[in-house]
Amino acid sequence: MEHNRIMDILILGAGYGGLRVAVELNTLLRDRRHQVQVTLVDQNPYHQIIQEFHLVATAAISKDDAAMALSHILERRDVRFRQGRVTSINVAGRRVSFVDGEALSYDYLVIALGSETSYANIPGAREHTIPLRTIDDAIHLRDHIFARYREAATTVNPQQRRILMTIAIIGAGYTGCQLAGELSAWAPELCRITGAPYDDVRIPLLEHSPLLLRHMGQWASDEAARVLDRRRVSVYLNTDVERVEAGVLHVSDNRMLRAGTLVWAGGVKAPDLLADSGLPTDETGRALVDRYLRVQDQARVFALGDCAHVPDSQGEAVPATASYAMRQGEHLARSLLADIEGQSPKMYEPMRLGEVVSLGPDEAVGNPLGGRIFGPAAVLLKKGIAQWYISTLR
Ligand SMILES: Cc1cc2nc3c(=O)[nH]c(=O)nc-3n(C[C@H](O)[C@H](O)[C@H](O)COP(=O)(O)OP(=O)(O)OC[C@H]3O[C@@H](n4cnc5c(N)ncnc54)[C@H](O)[C@@H]3O)c2cc1C
Repeated sequence: MEHNRIMDILILGAGYGGLRVAVELNTLLRDRRHQVQVTLVDQNPYHQIIQEFHLVATAAISKDDAAMALSHILERRDVRFRQGRVTSINVAGRRVSFVDGEALSYDYLVIALGSETSYANIPGAREHTIPLRTIDDAIHLRDHIFARYREAATTVNPQQRRILMTIAIIGAGYTGCQLAGELSAWAPELCRITGAPYDDVRIPLLEHSPLLLRHMGQWASDEAARVLDRRRVSVYLNTDVERVEAGVLHVSDNRMLRAGTLVWAGGVKAPDLLADSGLPTDETGRALVDRYLRVQDQARVFALGDCAHVPDSQGEAVPATASYAMRQGEHLARSLLADIEGQSPKMYEPMRLGEVVSLGPDEAVGNPLGGRIFGPAAVLLKKGIAQWYISTLR
């Protein structure tokens, strides 16, 4: 450790990965006498609990339940918070620039900037669909659905009314499936509040691959399809969205689907600023890191979570999920401490803990530790994970 000087650890992004680095570092440094300043940066003053966004979009919970104030989380932790939008990273000069023209320097840099919506170059998708990547998106979607259903309640033309009440979801990964399940459960109450007729509710879920929840395999896809079908969600597999216009999806085989609400759940990509800053990136813009989460050829620059291409022991990139981002955050906090203390950090060994995906308030499907779980047991596990997560931030 360099003596008589405070070491600056700068963490970009207060999401699942970056916040975990900050919280764990605070715990690890507590009883040590190192001269270290940990600074956490985010464009928002809150931590987004993205896994709950489908509940915000369906009015099951409020914004505050899915966006926790960082001032509150960091209240009793020795972590400085700087709100601001990062615009570039200057690795040679060890500086990070913000949109307001200010800059911060660092000794160690952790890049945990997550991902943003990817529209896969589909014409009209960005302009005419609503994504579900930020808390503001979730609120916008909720308000949009309310407005369409209110309009439907006073629309006499039955065809026009059905279109207004159709909520089409593009992409059946966990974002699309969780939202579809929750929307169908919300529909009766939504119709009661707005006066729209329940019989006209339509929730088509479109997926270009042959599977729902593709990363979880055939059995999970079959289980999700069984549950969603019972919930009046119409699943269309092997269906490519080719073009989007206002209220219209043009899909494979020259088919067309009209809907009052078009939700984009079709994928994410790393922020452009990584490649724009000259960092080594893969073809999807994620920072290339080694098995210590260190950005290639950079001794003190690390990346993790959705914005990093983190290799497993076979060289394959580990999945972009909250649980991986958190584990990487914990690991990196220990590695940073080791480095500061002049010890060798350990290699990051990804553990496949699995996922649990809700399909409405009382259905879920999951593959914890490679097993298969569904029904009430999966619902309980999903809720337990959500509560446990919040408890780690208190
Ligand atoms: C709707 C939805 C549902 C999901 N459900 C699940 C689930 O059930 N289970 C699961 O495991 N995973 C789920 N995921 C994936 C999971 O949310 C991500 O893998 C996880 O958030 C990645 O963590 P991260 O720290 O890399 O990024 P994030 O958690 O996205 O954090 C990135 C942070 O960086 C900040 N930031 C970005 N750019 C800038 C900038 N230029 N300047 C300043 N700050 C910036 C953002 O504000 C954000 O706080 C879901 C994702 C979505 C979109």
